[in-house]
Amino acid sequence: MKRSKMYIDGELRDSNTGSTFEVCNPADGTVVSEVSKAGVKDVKSGVDAASTAFGTWSALPASRRCSLLRKWHRKIMSNRDQLAETMTLEQGKPIAEAKGEISYAASFVRWFSEEGVRAYGETIPAPTAKSRFVTIRQPVGVAALITPWNFPAAMITRKVAPALAAGCTVVIKPSEETPLSALALAELAGEAGIPPGVINVVTLKDPKVFSKVIFSDERVLKISFTGSIPVGKKLMEMAAPQLKKLSLELGGNAPFIVFEDADIDRAVRGLMTAKFRNGGQACIAANRVFLHEDIYETFYNRLREAFGKLKIGKGLNPETDIGPLINKKAVDKIQRLMKDAVGKGARLVAGGKVVNERWFEPTILTDCNEDMDIFREEIFGPVVALYKFRNEDEVVRSANNTPAGLAGYFYSGDVSRCWRVGERMQCGMVGVNSGFISDASAPFGGVKESGIGREGSRYGLDEYMEIKYLSFGVEG
Ligand code: NAD
Repeated sequence: MKRSKMYIDGELRDSNTGSTFEVCNPADGTVVSEVSKAGVKDVKSGVDAASTAFGTWSALPASRRCSLLRKWHRKIMSNRDQLAETMTLEQGKPIAEAKGEISYAASFVRWFSEEGVRAYGETIPAPTAKSRFVTIRQPVGVAALITPWNFPAAMITRKVAPALAAGCTVVIKPSEETPLSALALAELAGEAGIPPGVINVVTLKDPKVFSKVIFSDERVLKISFTGSIPVGKKLMEMAAPQLKKLSLELGGNAPFIVFEDADIDRAVRGLMTAKFRNGGQACIAANRVFLHEDIYETFYNRLREAFGKLKIGKGLNPETDIGPLINKKAVDKIQRLMKDAVGKGARLVAGGKVVNERWFEPTILTDCNEDMDIFREEIFGPVVALYKFRNEDEVVRSANNTPAGLAGYFYSGDVSRCWRVGERMQCGMVGVNSGFISDASAPFGGVKESGIGREGSRYGLDEYMEIKYLSFGVEG
């Protein structure tokens, strides 16, 4: 499944630059593939192809586009094991998680193959007998999609599937760390019969080359970005001169609250899911764990027991629970956060060491407080930061005391409290007695600095459609 060429207009193409860059296995630094390094001309070719294909693709009946999406879904599922192996090699996550991500990625393709045929317009009661008002929904146009390395397949399909179902064509720029999954998915789309030019993938070492082209090309009408908050802000500035439509799925800083009336075992299981998926390298990973003082010790002891079972190792080893971090920068960041926290009074009670340069031991820090960098920044690694609280008002204020607002979690056995806290949490998604919130049928997205727009669910299609209003004059 290894590919080194770009996928443009239904063909595998070398770059006009003649250069390549290396994609390395985070587990041992070995080169997994040499990938074409796109330049300005290549990105323009991708836009050319998408722009040419838009006319015929958008004119197909939705049922035809959606049946091609269903074929793509079947192709992805029948190649699940190879796709998962490619992902583990380029990204490092345990193979079982990689297989899970391929199924999750495919589920967006299936979901939008079903939603695409339900992109209804409406009739509106007109104010006079001489007119009739209706709306129709139409595809935005050529969309440029930018994705991160932590979910190399799902972040692609969560954008491509609604875009294609709506009638848009796309140019994808996957992360420079993990372009192989994107290329493999695009090739399978071609095999499924999705016409040339509808999906294009350009691979770049320097992402700025991509933004230079897409933000200045008038044919690109939509940009959808998943990644960090600082880059999202830059892209919003770049979108201003041409007022490009922009969807932003950005970073989080998820609180995970355990109240005194919670089922503690269930909460510990929930935290293990919310924290350790992809070794903590997830935008919705539990970042700040708030424990009520009455259950603090009990929760902590059970968490230590659960920690004892975690195995770090190479992703291809089926025993592995936690793979390597993506790169050295990620290791350095966690060490910086830990040092800052300990310097400001946190206690390191488990883990804390770097193993074989790229792995971080599952780690627990207790006595954390709001002055620490770890309170404000995404940890993006297997570190649990524990905070103690006394009452509901205090913890809700603390949980909301961040510019981010993607996911949040809390555990409580009191139904009234579940409603109250669920409504007061400033985030786009809340796990109530649940550490797992991702599904193709549910709207994924954030409030505050965590982004603009939603992916997945019936709302996901809206990001790629315009509403047009037609006013009919009626005689007689
Ligand atoms: P990143 O912002 O560094 O990069 C994301 C993508 O943007 C990459 O493809 C990168 O090459 C590209 N990019 C960077 N600078 C660019 C520029 N100037 N112009 C155009 N493209 C540019 O983020 P990352 O390190 O790859 O991913 C981790 C971040 O993504 C975390 O903050 C995480 O929370 C966030 N994330 C959010 C979601 C979500 O759905 N909200 C999902 C996954 C990850």
